[in-house]
Amino acid sequence: MEEGYVLDITDSGKKTAKWIEGAPERSVWVGLKTGSRRSFALRAYRCAECGFVDLYAPGRGEE
Ligand SMILES: [Zn+2]
Repeated sequence: MEEGYVLDITDSGKKTAKWIEGAPERSVWVGLKTGSRRSFALRAYRCAECGFVDLYAPGRGEE
């Protein structure tokens, strides 16, 4: 598996996509409410032979 990440392009630039706890909750102002939910930067591992991607969200999360 080769290591990489999932890119998220936002109004404030390019970021690593994140895993957020709970179900998505829409907001008129910010797209999705994340509030005080824990978030984890996603690391992605790709199989060079078949292209399968496995996502990992290590660590203790950010508030
Ligand atoms: Zn494979």
